[in-house]
Amino acid sequence: MTAGMVIIGAGECGTRAAFALREAGYDGTIALVGAEPHLPYERPPLSKEAMTSDAPSIKAIADAERLAGHRIDLKGATTATSIDRANRSVRLADGSDLAYDKLLIATGSVPRQLPLPGLGSRSAYLRTFDDALRIRRHLREGVRIAIIGGGFIGLELAASARKLGAAVTVIEAQPRILTRGVPGEIAEVVHDTHVAEGVDIVCGDGIASIDDDGETVRIALASGRSIDADLAVIGIGAVPVTMLAETAGLALNNGISVDARLRTSDPDIFAAGDCCSFPLAIYGGRRVRLEAWRSAQELGGLAARNMLGAEEAHACVPWFWSDQYGLTLQIAGLPDEGERTIRRDLDDGAFILFHLKEDGRLVAASGIGPDNAVARDIRLAEMLIGKMARPDPEALTSPSVKLKSLLAA
Ligand code: FAD
Ligand code: NAP
Repeated sequence: MTAGMVIIGAGECGTRAAFALREAGYDGTIALVGAEPHLPYERPPLSKEAMTSDAPSIKAIADAERLAGHRIDLKGATTATSIDRANRSVRLADGSDLAYDKLLIATGSVPRQLPLPGLGSRSAYLRTFDDALRIRRHLREGVRIAIIGGGFIGLELAASARKLGAAVTVIEAQPRILTRGVPGEIAEVVHDTHVAEGVDIVCGDGIASIDDDGETVRIALASGRSIDADLAVIGIGAVPVTMLAETAGLALNNGISVDARLRTSDPDIFAAGDCCSFPLAIYGGRRVRLEAWRSAQELGGLAARNMLGAEEAHACVPWFWSDQYGLTLQIAGLPDEGERTIRRDLDDGAFILFHLKEDGRLVAASGIGPDNAVARDIRLAEMLIGKMARPDPEALTSPSVKLKSLLAA
């Protein structure tokens, strides 16, 4: 009698992995352990649609019927507290044990904590649906929101808060917003759009102190400026959840360290999603930890197949998007791999930057524009990146040349 598959973390990655196990024909037991008291749900709407809705609800990845139909045993509101590798079992918070043949750790990431005293009941982080509900309750016409961190959480939340009429200030320590993985030319469009929408963006200024008395949050900046807000939301990055792996003695390296097949230093334990770093084949094995929705899905599927012995190596191109106001930003590949950049202008102010190596290889593409304006070209660019193509730069910059034709070449 086999013990079955155990997945820790019922987020995007863990849930997709559970379904992928069934889709690959696995017939044994699947236990999906999730700390949150909800059905598995999508996080991207939390800073967008759910944040502007009058009655926010979770967007479930799968409902109870679908989970039951796939014989996925969701153990919700349950935390895994330790892994016993010698006996191949996972201890749950209620003291019970779950035996496994193969284990997947998909514990995601959590908000990086602001290393300052003074936070209180008017200070919040955003990661879960419960966090979103708490923030949503404050958002209305005229309320003052201070957002610490000009990354994706901060800027998507700023757009949602403006939609509801709140007065928004974003404080970013770096000289510009979106320093992590977003080219300056694209960040500038995002910056200007926020300013046009009435957001006050403060860059290059640190936080000297915070005083949250439960009514007002007073933020003193290093420059001497002081900002008063009814709510402060902190979005200064995410850290991988590695505690279980660490205490089990698994190798860590910017998250749980896995190989290209997502296997940890224990051959019976896999890790995937925001919590792990892995070698990315298209960049010669550069180790990355991706914090993105589609990657969590892809890694979940790959881990599931490899838990069943597929021995399949990761071969995807990273991709993510962000929606703010009517703008969508999309990036395929890692722009910092590029050594030069060329631009293709599309209709309605949309544009795409192609990031190339000196030898002409296309390594990333980033685009921004209204609604879905850049989606098709970014998808085609992603295919070119995956093929490690060296497209003609003149053709890339010329909107009259269809990217599809370059793919065929
Ligand atoms: P998670 O979704 O974090 O899931 C991990 C789960 O594991 C959590 O539910 C956690 O409670 C649980 N867990 C942890 N430890 C234990 C334990 N010991 N026992 C049991 N359960 C445990 N990406 C994009 O590409 N585009 C977007 O527009 C976008 N928007 C986002 C908006 C928000 C507000 C947030 C927070 C993220 C957004 N992302 C977006 C990122 C994307 O949602 C994440 O990359 C993705 O959710 C990662 O999936 P995951 O399964 O690895 O981790
Ligand atoms: P993020 O995108 O990494 O941005 C955090 C920003 O805050 C960075 O620019 C960071 O600068 C800055 N910062 C750090 N410390 C600061 C300080 N003390 N004061 C002011 N600014 C500071 O992270 P995030 O926006 O918090 O997002 C958290 C997670 O949610 C990530 O996993 C993210 O991918 C995910 N998410 C993704 C999307 C999307 O893809 N559309 C949307 C929402 C959330 P440094 O780089 O110098 O640290």
